[in-house]
Amino acid sequence: MTLTTISVHDLTKRYGSFEAVSHLTLDVEPGSICGLLGPNGAGKTTAFKCILGLARPTAGSIAIEGAPVTPKTFETTAYVPERNVLHEWMTVGEHVELNRRSNPKHDPKRADELLATFKLDRRKKVKRLSKGQKTALMLILALSIRPRILVLDEPSSGLDPIFQRVVLDLMIDAAAGGATILFSSHQIGQVERAADRVAILKQGRLVLDGTVDELKGSQKIVEAIFEDSVPSLNGLAADARILRVERVGRVYRAYVREGGDEIARRLDALGPKSVSVLDLNLEDIFLNAVADAKSPEDTI
Ligand code: ATP
Repeated sequence: MTLTTISVHDLTKRYGSFEAVSHLTLDVEPGSICGLLGPNGAGKTTAFKCILGLARPTAGSIAIEGAPVTPKTFETTAYVPERNVLHEWMTVGEHVELNRRSNPKHDPKRADELLATFKLDRRKKVKRLSKGQKTALMLILALSIRPRILVLDEPSSGLDPIFQRVVLDLMIDAAAGGATILFSSHQIGQVERAADRVAILKQGRLVLDGTVDELKGSQKIVEAIFEDSVPSLNGLAADARILRVERVGRVYRAYVREGGDEIARRLDALGPKSVSVLDLNLEDIFLNAVADAKSPEDTI
């Protein structure tokens, strides 16, 4: 039997009376890349800290490869936090050396390769690095131990599109080599490319969880474009199959779980310039998942 790599069961984390994470249950299976999405303040970093034993859960349980987190966990698990935890007065090379001395799994050859990939000079002091270069250094340190488990909190923070792509490829490469990755990102395109599984948090709660293909297949968009402004739709959006609508000028968009073709026919009867039934991308799914419930105005 293979053990679930990261198992989070009914995790709640409160800061005073504020619940940053509420009843989160999430399993990340070996070799999978799981992308955690959520608006600012949704609880992603808090969940990561609880998973890694850096914050004490108020309730719930966490296991990494079937066991509680101990210092030994970090020999094979690497964490790149959202904010850099580098020492400003130390050089890049000194950080790599510190990593080598403190982790028996450090691979100097891998560190060299990664320094070259990110074009980082060993002699440079951290205080002279740009924000993106600091992110790169943290990734280099994390990947230099060839971790079996990688937890990355916004790994592309401050990186330009070229290095964002490098990070994406490094994640895919690590997973192909057997690593399991849990990462958060506001770059939805990056999540769509790298993740096989996506979990979406909103106000501390898990609102959606599934494979990228499952989530994409679960909804359609019916889009109608009118000559003038969108006419009265005779209560169309009150249809329970419509999850949410958007109206921008002449464009009307309904997000539906099922019945897309029938809703398209009803819209067509109102004489628009065009009506189409479209597939969703991950950004649509994310925006739907974190949008507020249908407003009364939507049902006009
Ligand atoms: P972002 O995408 O902006 O990084 P996030 O999803 O990572 O956000 P968290 O940093 O986990 O969100 O924060 C979740 C909520 O918990 C926020 O409302 C934040 O203000 C609150 N919070 C986080 N840490 C603490 C703390 N130490 N004390 C009190 N509240 C906290």
